[in-house]
Amino acid sequence: MQNLIRLKVTVTGIVQGVGMRPTIYRHATNSQVTGHVSNTPQGVLIEVQGIASQVATFMELLKSFPPPQALIENISSIQIPSLPNDLGFVIIESHHLGIKSTDISPDLATCPDCAQEIFDPTNRRFQYAFTNCTNCGPRFTIIKDRPYDRPLTSMNSFPMCTSCLSEYQDPLNRRYHAQPNACKDCGPKLSILGMNSNNPLRDIITFLQNEKIVAIKGLGGFNIACLPYGRSLTKIRERKKRPTKSFALMAKNISVIERYCHVSSQENAALHSCQAPIVILKKKDSSGVLANVSPDNNYLGFMLPYTPLHHLIMEHFDFLIMTSANEKDEPIAINDFEITQLLEKSFVDYVLTHNRDIIHRADDSIVQFIKDKKQIIRRSRGIVPLPIATPSFLGHENRLCLGANMKNTFALRAGNKIYLSQHIGELIEHRNHEFQRQEIQNLATLLDIQDIQEQKTTIDAHPGYENFNSNFQQVFHHHAHFLSVIGEHPKALPGTLGIICDGTGFGTDGHIWGFEFLKIKDDLNAFERVAHLDYFELPGSERAIYEVDRIKISLLNQIIDKIDSSIAPAARVKEILMLINKKFNSPLTSSLGRLFDGVAAILGVTNVSTYEAQAAILLQKEAENNTNFQFNSYPVKIIENSLLKIDYRPMLISLIKDITHNVSISECAYKFHKWVVDSILQVIQILAPASVCLSGGCFQNKLLMEILVDKLTESKITYYTNELVPVNDAGISFGQALVEEKCV
Ligand SMILES: [Zn+2]
Ligand SMILES: [Zn+2]
Repeated sequence: MQNLIRLKVTVTGIVQGVGMRPTIYRHATNSQVTGHVSNTPQGVLIEVQGIASQVATFMELLKSFPPPQALIENISSIQIPSLPNDLGFVIIESHHLGIKSTDISPDLATCPDCAQEIFDPTNRRFQYAFTNCTNCGPRFTIIKDRPYDRPLTSMNSFPMCTSCLSEYQDPLNRRYHAQPNACKDCGPKLSILGMNSNNPLRDIITFLQNEKIVAIKGLGGFNIACLPYGRSLTKIRERKKRPTKSFALMAKNISVIERYCHVSSQENAALHSCQAPIVILKKKDSSGVLANVSPDNNYLGFMLPYTPLHHLIMEHFDFLIMTSANEKDEPIAINDFEITQLLEKSFVDYVLTHNRDIIHRADDSIVQFIKDKKQIIRRSRGIVPLPIATPSFLGHENRLCLGANMKNTFALRAGNKIYLSQHIGELIEHRNHEFQRQEIQNLATLLDIQDIQEQKTTIDAHPGYENFNSNFQQVFHHHAHFLSVIGEHPKALPGTLGIICDGTGFGTDGHIWGFEFLKIKDDLNAFERVAHLDYFELPGSERAIYEVDRIKISLLNQIIDKIDSSIAPAARVKEILMLINKKFNSPLTSSLGRLFDGVAAILGVTNVSTYEAQAAILLQKEAENNTNFQFNSYPVKIIENSLLKIDYRPMLISLIKDITHNVSISECAYKFHKWVVDSILQVIQILAPASVCLSGGCFQNKLLMEILVDKLTESKITYYTNELVPVNDAGISFGQALVEEKCV
C-alpha cells in the first residue's frame, strides 16, 4: 500500500458565502482524497488525505478552479500526520471561535441560473423576488456579524422550509449553505406600504405604467423608480429638486442600452458583472425619449437588473429611472420608517417594500471608463467591503480615517488591509454624520476592532472638521489625494509627482487649494508643494460654488480694468468687486474646479450651478461638441520661481479675444481643456519627475482625462491614477490611511 499524505490547507480571502465548500467537496470527490472542510473565522480550513498524486490533483483543482465569486488571497498548506481510518470527505459545520479575519463578500447580482428559474413557470421559485444561491444574492447588506452564517444575518427570522433546507444541506446543490436561501413558502415577502394588495408586484408595475413615482426596496436601500420621460420625469425633478441634474437608469437588457449609448466591451462586462454598477456611457447622437434624463451632459448612467425583483419589474419596461431614495444630501432610506417619511412628504406615491431587513446602507456604485480603464466614481453596493492591501513597506496598525467633508467615506486600516466604507455623503448633513458613526461601529464589529472610539484617527486638515476623539492627526486634503494613488501604486515611489486637479481643499498656507503639484518628502507623512495654479479670489467663498458669476467677475478683474455691463449687471459687478477689494469673505484659491466654473460663466454657458460642478459639467459638454481642432489651445505661461505658478491670465486674455471674434463657445471650451493639459505638460517638463500620480475630482472629466492621457503616453511619461478607489473626495480617507503614526 502506498504512503498516505495528509495536508492541512488554509484558504483566505473572500471565501465564505461564495460556494467554496461545495466546490472543495466536488474537487475532493474528483481527486479521490478523504478528509474534511470547514469555515473558520480565519477562512476555509481543509484537511485532505490520499496518495501523493491524489493530493497533488486536489491542490491543483483548488488553485485552478475556485468558485466564480471567490477572491482567494492566499492558500497555505502544511503536512500533518495521516489518519488510518479516514473514509470519505465531509463538510463540517462552522464554529464561532477565534479572531474574525475572513473578508465579507460584497452583494452579488442575480446569477443567470437564478434569473432563469424566476421566469420558469414550472420552477418552484417562479416569480419569487428573493431567489438566490451561493453565486448570487445579498451579502454585506444583510450581515450583522461574522462568520457569515444565516443566524448572524437578517435572514435569521426566516426558518427554512423542508425543500429549502434540503438544498441548503446538500453539498452538491447550488444552494448548499447559501445563507439567504429562501422560497415563497418560507422566505421574505413583498408588500405595498399602507395598502392591502394580494399581488404587490403586479400593482407596482401598473402604478409605474400610470406615471406614478414609486419607491422600491432593493439590496442596500430603497430606489425611487419612474418612467424616464413625460409627466413622471417632470414630477421626479420637482420632488427631488433636481431641475436638470442627471438620473441613473435601469434597463431591461443590453440591447436596450445599445439603442441609446455606445457600449465598449469593457463597459459591457462591467454592466454584466456581479457588482452590477451604474456605468456612465456616451450617448448616441439621438437619445430620443431619454433626451431629458441628462440634459447637462453627453452621457447616460445605466445599470442592469441586479436582484430578482428588478428582473421581474424590468420584464415590463425597457428602462426606468432608478435613483437613490433620499432627500437632497441625506442617506438612502433603508427601512419602512424612513421611507414613510418620504411618502408622507409626497416624494413618492407608493412604496414596494419587503420584510428582509437591510443592515448596511449601500447606494448603487458608479463607474466610468477612460481609455478602457475603469474609474470608480462611487464605491458602494457590490464593491464594499472589499479591502485593499496596504503597500508592503507600511507597518501593521489599526487606525480610523475619517475622510473629507464632501462625498465622505471613511477608511479602517486593520493590519495589512484598508477597508474603505461605502458612500456616506455630505457631512454637513446631520443624518450623514449619524450614518457615518453607526457604520464605523458596524465595520469595527465585523473586523473585531475593540474600542473604536478610542482608536487613533486621521482627519482632513480643513478647519472645523469634526473629530471623532482628541487622539487625531491631520492630513492635508491634496496630500491625501496624492497618497491615495501611491496606496494603489506603491511602485510610483520614489521621485513621483502628484498632480491634483480638484475642487476645494484647505492648503498649508490657509488658502483654498485645487490645482496642485506635490512631491513626497522623506516619508509619506511629509510633502512639498512644487507648483500650483496662481491664485484668484473666491468672492463669497462657498457661495461662489453655486453663483459662478462671482468667479467670472473675480477672474475678469485680474485682466480687465473696468468690467462693463455687457458682461454682468453693473450693480452685481460693484457688489462682487467690493467684497474682493475689502478682502471680505474672499479667500484666495488655486482650485481648478473653480477655474472651470469661472470660464463656463465667462463663456456665457451659465451664471449659476444648481448642483455642485454643474457649470464645469456644462463646459465639458460644450468642449466635447467642438468640431474645429485647427487652433486648439490657449497660451501657457509658467511663472518660474522655487515654487512654479501656472498663470491663467494669458489664457483668459486670448479667451476674451476669441469671444469678441465670435469663435464658437464649443471651440473656446475645447481650447480651455487643451490649455489645462498643456499647462500640466509644461510643469512636468520643467520638473522632470520619474512618474506622475493623477487624482482629484476634475479627473472625472472624461475629455480632460483623455486628452491628458494621450499626451502623457505620447511624451512617454509614466502615469498612475486611482483604479480601486474614487479619484474624487471619496478616495481621501484611503489616502489618509497611508500616513503612519509618528513617534512623538
Ligand atoms: Zn444564483
Ligand atoms: Zn423554502
